Amino acid sequence: MCKGMDNKKQRGILVIAEQSNGEIHKVSYELLNKGRELAEQRNMPLDCLLLGGDGIPAEELNYRGAQTVYYMKDSIFSTLEEYTYKKNIVAFIEEKEPEIVLIGATNFGRSLAPRIAAALCTGLTADCTDLQINDEGRLIQIRPAFSDHLFAHIKTVKNPQMATVRYKEFAEAKRDLKNLENIIFVKPYFKQTSKSTVDEMIALDDFDITEAEVIVAGGRGIRRKEDLAMLEELAKVLGGKVGVSRALVDAGMAESSAQVGYSGNRVKPKVYIACGISGAPQHLAGMKDSQVIIAVNSDPSAPIFQIADYGYVGDLYEVIPQFTRQLRKEDAVK
Ligand SMILES: Cc1cc2nc3c(=O)[nH]c(=O)nc-3n(C[C@H](O)[C@H](O)[C@H](O)COP(=O)(O)OP(=O)(O)OC[C@H]3O[C@@H](n4cnc5c(N)ncnc54)[C@H](O)[C@@H]3O)c2cc1C
Repeated sequence: MCKGMDNKKQRGILVIAEQSNGEIHKVSYELLNKGRELAEQRNMPLDCLLLGGDGIPAEELNYRGAQTVYYMKDSIFSTLEEYTYKKNIVAFIEEKEPEIVLIGATNFGRSLAPRIAAALCTGLTADCTDLQINDEGRLIQIRPAFSDHLFAHIKTVKNPQMATVRYKEFAEAKRDLKNLENIIFVKPYFKQTSKSTVDEMIALDDFDITEAEVIVAGGRGIRRKEDLAMLEELAKVLGGKVGVSRALVDAGMAESSAQVGYSGNRVKPKVYIACGISGAPQHLAGMKDSQVIIAVNSDPSAPIFQIADYGYVGDLYEVIPQFTRQLRKEDAVK
């Protein structure tokens, strides 16, 4: 049984930075931006914990607003393995006792955060879209509920108050080279955390749709898996990636890593082309903040047209190949 923490003692906001192959994930800079705002309201320090192997530019986190960067440097952290990370982060939090802990709602963060919260006997709000401080100085964790129909405001009774925050929800903290470089190296508390060891991590795929600037997304209007090639071609011409609605994942036509929506990925590309997607609230939850939305649907009353900047009522099997051909022709003229 875990003891939990004494609420009166803690101070400070701790951002758990994420890195992969030595590169700091941009969600860490977004958390520092929001963390700075909260820290100023509470008049408390904003620090960062980074776990990783050699050669990570930890000072970047100072430039983005972390007062102190605690760098737990060891090759054991080169592999993103939740159990080792959890044991060490929990030990660090128990020692430093931050009042608030923020983690990115990335795949790894979503898997890691609940383990940490459970070990610390505290609550966790996942996938927050906003954070505020209330009159009592407590963290209000805001996240969409009931398919984005309302925003739940959640308060954790115990400390640390923990939240994961969706990627691309906040702007990145601006890089200020005048910020002091203040890095404290911390030894891992636990090196051998389990009887089993991870020899090699094999990624299912390295597909990351959240980084795409153009997304051509297919829904149930696509009849067969092979027909997704049509969308691939358009995406290729536009330098984008193919996304899908959950209908295609459920039908076994696409991987869940390509799913856009409430239970999939949240995306904010420059251009989102929805092909044969009706526009269910759960799908819109993942893409409605795209800069420009283009919808192709044979049903003029499809809800997707209500949020589309440009709409085409017609058969995607005609319009998409035509559109691709036209773009190729224009490319050839250039
Ligand atoms: C808890 C929960 C979580 C969910 N999470 C997600 C999620 O993350 N992402 C998600 O997408 N869904 C999610 N869903 C499912 C969601 O409610 C919808 O069922 C799903 O989005 C529908 O997918 P669709 O638009 O592709 O299919 P449909 O709603 O069946 O729409 C297909 C559209 O294609 C059009 N069409 C058909 N043929 C053509 C053609 N030849 N040319 C042009 N248009 C054509 C039709 O007019 C129709 O509008 C979730 C549901 C629940 C309950």
